[in-house]
Amino acid sequence: MPPEIRSESAVVLFSGGQDSTVCLAWALQRFARVETVGFDYGQRHAVELAVRPRVREKLAALSAEWAGRLGADHILTLDALGAVSDSALTRDVAIEIGESGLPTTFVPGRNLIFLAFAGALAYRRGARHLVGGMCETDFSGYPDCRDDTIKAVQVALGLGMNRRFIIHTPLMWIDKAATFAMAEEIGGKPLFDLVLEETHTCYSGDRSQRHPWGYGCGECPACRLRAEGFARFIAGREA
Ligand code: ZN
Repeated sequence: MPPEIRSESAVVLFSGGQDSTVCLAWALQRFARVETVGFDYGQRHAVELAVRPRVREKLAALSAEWAGRLGADHILTLDALGAVSDSALTRDVAIEIGESGLPTTFVPGRNLIFLAFAGALAYRRGARHLVGGMCETDFSGYPDCRDDTIKAVQVALGLGMNRRFIIHTPLMWIDKAATFAMAEEIGGKPLFDLVLEETHTCYSGDRSQRHPWGYGCGECPACRLRAEGFARFIAGREA
């Protein structure tokens, strides 16, 4: 049974990666109108941002209903985030575990800032629902991906804008293998193939190598997570 359609609007934090693409499909299944927002904060490799329009286009091509629900795309430029952050995502720093015990890809407060801007956008666009791919299950320890963080932001946005927002995180308690399974459950093989072929998660921005799990360098933490999740998903399906 497909989920019931709510006659409301949602804004999806959409990077063009695997997780946010599955979240976008999840939202298209549930909300009458779905808009997307992406953030340009000086990422070293803008491949994710570059694949976004094609992923949106291909998602819309999967279903006439989805095409009718998919609304505007918004790109917000947050240069200041890149300027204050010393992350391997924005500077030429090796991707490794830093002194804090967190990977050097950690951008402090990134999701707090993203959600505040997404909330401001949703306010202006008359949307009550925000959807994000934050996940506490295999999340590299990023504290701003924790469920408690997201719930605290939901409360803060509601108080600070005097409007009730609901932040949905459909991937919060599932791992990458289950994210692949969710793609297949929502959109069958066409969505599963789209996620493999079109989405981008590699920190090195490598789209020259095609693996069974998609494109990427195969070495960075994001590629390893995706490759391991894919392997577990395939093993589970064959079991
Ligand atoms: Zn990679």
